[in-house]
Amino acid sequence: KYHNELVELKGNIRVFCRVRPKIKEDGTGSQADNVISFDRDDDGLIYVESKGRSQTFEVDRVFSENSTQTEVFDEVKSVAISCIDGFNVCIFAYGQTGSGKTYTMEGTLLDPGINQRALQELFHVIEERGLDWEYTVTVSVLEIYNEMIRDLLGDDISFKMEVKMNPEGGLYIPGLSYVNVASVEDVNKVFVVGQKNRATATTNMNEHSSRSHALLCVTVTGENKTTKTRTTGKLNLVDLAGSERVSKSGADGARLKEAQSINKSLACLGDVIQALRAKQSYIPYRNSKLTYLLQDSLGGDSKTLMLVQIAPVRKNEGETICSLNFAQRVR
Ligand code: ADP
Ligand code: MG
Repeated sequence: KYHNELVELKGNIRVFCRVRPKIKEDGTGSQADNVISFDRDDDGLIYVESKGRSQTFEVDRVFSENSTQTEVFDEVKSVAISCIDGFNVCIFAYGQTGSGKTYTMEGTLLDPGINQRALQELFHVIEERGLDWEYTVTVSVLEIYNEMIRDLLGDDISFKMEVKMNPEGGLYIPGLSYVNVASVEDVNKVFVVGQKNRATATTNMNEHSSRSHALLCVTVTGENKTTKTRTTGKLNLVDLAGSERVSKSGADGARLKEAQSINKSLACLGDVIQALRAKQSYIPYRNSKLTYLLQDSLGGDSKTLMLVQIAPVRKNEGETICSLNFAQRVR
């Protein structure tokens, strides 16, 4: 199926749910019991057993705990690489900390996730079209923390980036680094620099990464060699901050502020997608840095994929239900 056929069939916002397998951190005992079930992965229905009853949710497709990175990528591939035809695409991983967002987006060295596979496929298609088209690919790596933007490829990695509106339309971040890449190896090198900068800028990388949004933004510009037609498309790959609720008691001031900005931006992302879905005339992009920054890749003929990640165990059932409610709201 080609992406444009799919869009005609189902609209351009798609919501998937991926259940991660049980891991050792889930512990043992009744808190580690499985609470998730579904009939088939392709009917999109998912059941959560909670307090003696079963709640049903519906998404476009469920990926079970046995799903592979390849299966997930096969489903998102056509949308991801449509950036080569001038489409703007956003792929988000949503869910509580520990639910598998980073696994799905980045994956592991031996079994990479969507980011790596999408770029691989992109370069593959670029090569296939090499006779007729000439493409330039640039990447930016950035993060949003407490409603501030950090350029992870810049010489100065302090938070300072601002989003500005271009007079001709579209948004830009003055001073943001764009690196030209011609292969997956190039992208990996850039990504390593980004990770390193992200780690140096903080004391506890694990905690920090769960409280900030990580963005890999790919811009693809093409020119047809004979007709000189030009296209520009963007692929935004976003590993969102953890969606878990933070209790007001016990959290210190800094932690509470982080939690509030995360809540605000995730809620705003939900509002924007919901408003687009409902074809409302006013879309509240400006309510968060994330949606403001991605505004030219959300709405219009852009494509959005939301991967809602959940853990399978009882201990996480409350957050799982919250995440699936979010999925339901944007679907
Ligand atoms: P998050 O980014 O949402 O905090 P992670 O991606 O770090 O969560 O996943 C938490 C743990 O679960 C990691 O150890 C990760 O390797 C493991 N994990 C997540 N999803 C899968 C999966 N589909 N298969 C195997 N292990 C997974
Ligand atoms: Mg993570």
